Amino acid sequence: MTGSLYIHIPFCLSKCNYCDFNSIPFKQQLADRYIHALITEIKNQSKDAPLINTVYIGGGTPTILDPSQIQKIIQKIRQNYNISDDAEISIEANPGTLDRTKLESFIISGINRISIGAQSFIDDELAFMGRRHTALIIDISVSYAREAGFTNISLDLIYGLPKQKVQQWKDNIAKAILLKPDHISTYELTVENGTPLAHDIINGKYTMPDEDDISEMYYCGIDALSAAGYIQYEISNFAKPGYECRHNINYWNRGEYIGVGSGAHSFCSGVRRSNTRDIKKYCELIETSSDAYEDQEIIDEKGALKEIIFLGLRKCEGIDLSVLPNEVSEKIKKAASDLVRSSLVCFEDERMKLTQKGFILSSEVIVRVLSGIE
Ligand code: SF4
Repeated sequence: MTGSLYIHIPFCLSKCNYCDFNSIPFKQQLADRYIHALITEIKNQSKDAPLINTVYIGGGTPTILDPSQIQKIIQKIRQNYNISDDAEISIEANPGTLDRTKLESFIISGINRISIGAQSFIDDELAFMGRRHTALIIDISVSYAREAGFTNISLDLIYGLPKQKVQQWKDNIAKAILLKPDHISTYELTVENGTPLAHDIINGKYTMPDEDDISEMYYCGIDALSAAGYIQYEISNFAKPGYECRHNINYWNRGEYIGVGSGAHSFCSGVRRSNTRDIKKYCELIETSSDAYEDQEIIDEKGALKEIIFLGLRKCEGIDLSVLPNEVSEKIKKAASDLVRSSLVCFEDERMKLTQKGFILSSEVIVRVLSGIE
């Protein structure tokens, strides 16, 4: 059995105005206490762990930590888990928290992939989002990462900002391509309840772009990236051949994974668990007991089928119906028949996939497939 390991670092330089991730502005004392708890949980969770093929240190902004803390985390992982020789070991990074020494120390620790939250190459857009870096700092961070020895670099970009024009998004994609990353993720901005952005939208300070502009941004992103040799392998993810993110592919394939840290999720032996999101409570729980679980769900057959559909349809290769029981695959085909007529879903051999039109409406399409199998 093989699987993945996710480590959550919930600290950032400051909070971006659209963010509802589990992260807070960095506080040294709390971060030190948290890393101590994290190291304990890494060991506690290792019992019966599968062979680990991918490790992802995410956040938050893991690169806000001192490199010696990252080294300690990796060391603890290596001491307690079987890590495959060709494991993908990623770290999530934000421009403005990287320097040469840090990046070199990540390479020495065995980290072999870096995912940089660029988000935009337009300084006004970065400022609007509450990001702490400028476009120039992204360029510098990518150069430093290459110089330090990273041969697998990913950039994240966000489109669909209020007031953003299609041309601005095209410029962002073109700038990203010029930096020659090995992987690019493009995410549509979503307005999450309770964020400062949501507040400004509700109060009429900003309006989101209309659906036609969003579709145009999505499709022109695909066109530009594919012309530059990036293969789309998931709704929002594009890679040079061989640079697909193995960690995320494991999630979409319903592979097993262990999540460590506040708010981290795990999926092992058909059970999904999540740790408390509250950082102080997380520390207290790990300091006084063996885990910090807050929720647990045993996934039955029906639940597993739903997951196969909503995770599998995210991938461009779709779902392989031939591995499912015949009556189940027939049920799915029946549920999707209207969507095929509307060109939102297609079948290729025994695979069911979303079309490009289906990708832009993926949430609605997936809900319709799921309601068809109820
Ligand atoms: S850097 Fe990422 S995780 Fe941190 S506040 Fe901004 S969007 Fe949220």
